[in-house]
Amino acid sequence: MRIERDILDKNNDHAAQNRARFMQTGTFALNFVSSPGSGKTSLLVRAIGDLRERFPVAVIEGDQQTSNDAERIRAAGAPAVQINTGKGCHLDAHMVAHGLEKLKLERGGLLFIENVGNLVCPAAFDLGEAHKVVVLSVTEGQDKPLKYPEMFAASDLMLLNKADLLPHVDFDVTGCVANALKINPDLQTLLVSARTGEGLPAFYAWLEGRAARWARANAPKAVAE
Ligand code: MG
Repeated sequence: MRIERDILDKNNDHAAQNRARFMQTGTFALNFVSSPGSGKTSLLVRAIGDLRERFPVAVIEGDQQTSNDAERIRAAGAPAVQINTGKGCHLDAHMVAHGLEKLKLERGGLLFIENVGNLVCPAAFDLGEAHKVVVLSVTEGQDKPLKYPEMFAASDLMLLNKADLLPHVDFDVTGCVANALKINPDLQTLLVSARTGEGLPAFYAWLEGRAARWARANAPKAVAE
């Protein structure tokens, strides 16, 4: 327990440094978390195509191995840094700090951090992001919020992805949302499809609203003349 607390304390120090850096550069950062296979990378590829006229977008990709996802992101038109965690099951704030050294952050830009696919460990590690966004797909169990409550408690938005597959699967959207709200009454939920684009305008509206709120809260204090 002692070791675990030390690790988390160190992580929180690095997260605070990342957060200060995001304030300096005016970067709105989101940390995307989910099980493997929920469609995080496909969502980001679609979002980059839809948003890059409005925002500079940069991406940090976390996976145990390969740079496949960073390559997909670059092909979609955004700069990306791949972090391989090896045996590690999550990104930590120190790894993200190193990743940031390789990215040019533009003022008013977005940073998407795609965490390692894992619904457990990433919940405990603050990376300095403004919000965690948990992605759940309709091919998974609707009781996942109850089975992995820490992640749903730590997130501010749940994207229910692969909505286009709903006619083919037995997934109870209302039941899933009810489960998530039992864990986190403030969690917002959007039904989306990275494949068809369904629901994504609502996600972009959420993102723009939160980014504007974040920018107001973190604006440099006006200096009296
Ligand atoms: Mg991925």
